[in-house]
Amino acid sequence: MSLDCIFCKIAGGEIQAKEVYRDDDVVAIADVNPQAPAHLLVMPRKHYADLTALYAAGAGATAAKLFEVAAKVGREHGARGFRLVANTGPEGGQTVDHVHVHVLAGRHMAWPPG
Ligand code: 5GP
Ligand code: ZN
Repeated sequence: MSLDCIFCKIAGGEIQAKEVYRDDDVVAIADVNPQAPAHLLVMPRKHYADLTALYAAGAGATAAKLFEVAAKVGREHGARGFRLVANTGPEGGQTVDHVHVHVLAGRHMAWPPG
């Protein structure tokens, strides 16, 4: 738990979000500013700033779980496919420093991204 972290507060139930999945390790919520008809965020309940910090802490199993749950909710919300994104660090476009995987679905995804 990081005191000023918005996703820790969401994972802890202190701030409300539209949850689509929860287990002992992982929570998935709807993004407040959706970039696709379905835009979900999958995060561990435990705080890691980003993927680099997560792997440095030896929590690779948590990363595997994040992608497993992301693929599951992706299948549920994207009958014709989905995109998973993990923005990491300032040049990676990360704005919330609690590791999370974006799940985007419901429209055609352009490539390359901007
Ligand atoms: P990042 O830019 O770090 O990859 O993604 C952060 C995402 O979190 C953004 O897409 C943003 O819309 C979303 N977000 C930020 N604050 C909140 C919040 O309080 N609730 C929800 N549901 N999403 C949030
Ligand atoms: Zn956090």
